[in-house]
Amino acid sequence: MKNKIAKTAEEQIPEEQSPEKRITNFDEVCLGYTKQQSHEEAKRCLQCPVPMCEKSCPAQVPIKRFISHIAESDHDSALSAILEKNCLPGICGRVCPSEQQCRKTCIHYQKISIALLERSAADYSSPRLSKKKSLSKSIAVIGSGPSGLSCAYDLALKGFKVTIYEALHEPGGVLTYGIPEFRLPKSVVKKEISALKDLGVETSLNTVIGLSITLEELKKIHDAVFIASGAGLPYFLGIPGEGLNNVYSANEFLSRNVLMKAHKFPEYRTPVGRSEKTIVIGGGNVAIDAARTARRLGSQVTVFYRRTKNEMPARPYEIKHAEEEGIKFEFLASPLKLIGEATVRAGEFIKMRLSSPDASGRASSVEIPG
Ligand code: SF4
Repeated sequence: MKNKIAKTAEEQIPEEQSPEKRITNFDEVCLGYTKQQSHEEAKRCLQCPVPMCEKSCPAQVPIKRFISHIAESDHDSALSAILEKNCLPGICGRVCPSEQQCRKTCIHYQKISIALLERSAADYSSPRLSKKKSLSKSIAVIGSGPSGLSCAYDLALKGFKVTIYEALHEPGGVLTYGIPEFRLPKSVVKKEISALKDLGVETSLNTVIGLSITLEELKKIHDAVFIASGAGLPYFLGIPGEGLNNVYSANEFLSRNVLMKAHKFPEYRTPVGRSEKTIVIGGGNVAIDAARTARRLGSQVTVFYRRTKNEMPARPYEIKHAEEEGIKFEFLASPLKLIGEATVRAGEFIKMRLSSPDASGRASSVEIPG
């Protein structure tokens, strides 16, 4: 009977802000499930004897079990089950590439929206974390991004004293400075970090390792050090014109807007270039985040990518949102130079064609001469 219900029930679709409305604000686009929707979606799960969804979850979340709790409208127990393995359910439920992981291997012919269910567990319940014991050893964690937070959580649960050292004035790493509010509200990040603090994890903000304190000094204070400094350095193309005004790495452009709230200038005194037209070079999630941020700053935006839409590393869900928001795409185009006097005015591109797969397994792209 249970399987019969699951096979006939339709996937629950959450409400979203309309494209016309959302390009005028930075609020979250996807509004998530109502409690009732999460209950209906959870009931579709087949509760497989061998849950294939769990095999592709990098955090090893007990997916089948937490979904069964939501099917009984028990979001508190669902959250407790997730927290056995993952301290960032509200964050992962929003930004995990679930279509490449748990959802991809779900055997239901219509797939279960596992990430949205994880999000609903986090949104409709509050984490209650407690240590099993207290150990005397202390650990330093350098960096407060997802890796640092997860490490701090696992160690704190085991009873270690943990201090996270963060260079910026806000904890969260890329969650705080890189992913825009319209994809990941900072209130969600704050809620999940504050649960860690309740567990006794301390944070030392504005602390640059190597300047504020050296690694050697840290090793004297703590019994072990975990380095989770991330991969935050931008990758430039080395083409002429990259030094012109209003040319940003996505990293800087997003940091100015996400962490330093440049889009609220002059309320926040962070300057950022605004223009009628913006070009974004690249096809990953960060490129799409930058494009959608520029769109919300009032720009017409075109994303240039040297392969085709099929090879884009960005999540299809985010590409769809970008298209709905009026962002244009130019495929098989690679930049040669950026042009302008002091400020960038144009870009010159060359047409590409697809060729044999490269080391990443994706089709490579080669220039079409002339
Ligand atoms: S594979 Fe899909 S249907 Fe089976 S337990 Fe996991 S989410 Fe439910």
